[in-house]
Amino acid sequence: MPKSKVNRVILCIIDDVRSDQFFSLIKKGLLPNCKKLMESGMYSTNCITDFPALTYPTQVSIITGAHTGDYRYEVCHGVPLSNWMDRNYNPPLVRNYGSKNLDIYKINEDLGDNCKTICEMIQEGNKTSIIQFINRGVDYYFPENKLKLALYYLMIKYYPKFRTTIKYVNTIVIKKLLDIFRRPNHYFETNEAPICSLLWFLTSDMVMHKFGSESLLYKINLMQIDRLMGLLISGLKELGYLDDTAIALTSDHGNYRAQGVGNLDLFYKHTRLSNYHPRKNQKGMMNISEFASLGFFYFNPKNMNLQNASKIKDDNPWFRPSLEFLEAFGTRKINVFNELFRIKSVKLLYYAAETNTPQKGQIFLQRKVNANKLIRGRLEYRGSGENMQTRYVFEDSTQQDVFKYYKNATAVKYLNGKFYGIDEWLKATSHLDFPLYPDLLCRHFKNPRSADIIVSTEGDITYNIEQGKKKSNQVFKHDIGARRSSIVPLIISGSNEIPKGEISYCKITDIIPTLLSLLGKKAQINLIGNNLKNNLI
Ligand SMILES: [Zn+2]
Repeated sequence: MPKSKVNRVILCIIDDVRSDQFFSLIKKGLLPNCKKLMESGMYSTNCITDFPALTYPTQVSIITGAHTGDYRYEVCHGVPLSNWMDRNYNPPLVRNYGSKNLDIYKINEDLGDNCKTICEMIQEGNKTSIIQFINRGVDYYFPENKLKLALYYLMIKYYPKFRTTIKYVNTIVIKKLLDIFRRPNHYFETNEAPICSLLWFLTSDMVMHKFGSESLLYKINLMQIDRLMGLLISGLKELGYLDDTAIALTSDHGNYRAQGVGNLDLFYKHTRLSNYHPRKNQKGMMNISEFASLGFFYFNPKNMNLQNASKIKDDNPWFRPSLEFLEAFGTRKINVFNELFRIKSVKLLYYAAETNTPQKGQIFLQRKVNANKLIRGRLEYRGSGENMQTRYVFEDSTQQDVFKYYKNATAVKYLNGKFYGIDEWLKATSHLDFPLYPDLLCRHFKNPRSADIIVSTEGDITYNIEQGKKKSNQVFKHDIGARRSSIVPLIISGSNEIPKGEISYCKITDIIPTLLSLLGKKAQINLIGNNLKNNLI
């Protein structure tokens, strides 16, 4: 077999980019460098992100080529959310990757041992990451230490001239990378240009949350990133690396605008539940780890019997409540499901069966149609990792299903009680809202760090809660299953060796297998994704 001529890859994640918006800016001629990359390589306007459409879990899925799951037993990664809780610790482990404690540095450990990053899979050669913290296996990363990162975060947050700051933050990514290509021996033990580089442009997410993706500043920022991509291409060309480099450009999720910010005052009043806090409220019987329009609720059956705080020092203070318990929770026998559906605009609710194992289980789904009507359905899964299959069963006499797939001629054919794998679900749902949900929801619930109950609005109302605390009044969000939040752009280009053409649909976990194949490398782990070269139209 002839040796592949692609000898290095650059994986670049531009945070928070909707596919439709990105390609419409390309069409208008506003992103000329991305356009050139698109025309000279392969691309998809319909790349499906992971569940939920949040920064850290999706970027982990991109970089490991794995979805989440029971990370102790199956090939998958262990990061279910950006904010989560692990109740196997005493006291429970509370993670918030955006926190000032720099929890972000623990993310590489949180991935678990049953997945590898692309850098670990490639093995030999120099690897680097620039402002990308999911970087197990890299030889040089920037910023080099926690102090520098903290200063960097502070600068982004408090520097008065926002526009100047984001420009600087973007520029640093490409300038640094080109310097690494120019003088590898300043960064690595050997004087060889990196075989794999991981980049993260985070400014687009910051601007989106503040001003929305329709704002001028958001578009100006993308245009600046495009100019930097131009700088990267000409820099690589000048150094003689463009011909053997593959550049992958993608995003972690899209975005939407909510109509308003809700509050949970009535929910707290009705239920008299308080949110757990590791220092301030150890007696809390519940934790909402995050809730924008998609809410993740953890409950603690043990705390309700607590007489005093010292008892919390028991082994295993939290455990997963039974469903019976959630239907009559606490001394007042609250039905948690009913109360969650009383939260303004909450339309969807998902939870796992108690008897689930990594190999077999059920996820229950409900959609509120009106005060008196719920549509119910369930997902059943069997197998794990790449071999997992699921079926989507609905129980409504009117033949309606929770995700409204019944309205679509292609998708409805898959609602026949048979089990399907991830790529069959991709084919069935890649053009719809809640794409891939029958597969992705099962994987998410398999992770013991996931919540007991997940609720969702349709993106009209957002709650902006992280670990029980309301964070802002921002209405620009991402997380829900709607296409504007779940579909990201993908371009793989650079070297002339990369085939040209469009891929009609794909998933973010197809990116790593494609890059490995371009490099002529084996994953050494059973990846779930496909080599997209074979999916060109
Ligand atoms: Zn993001």
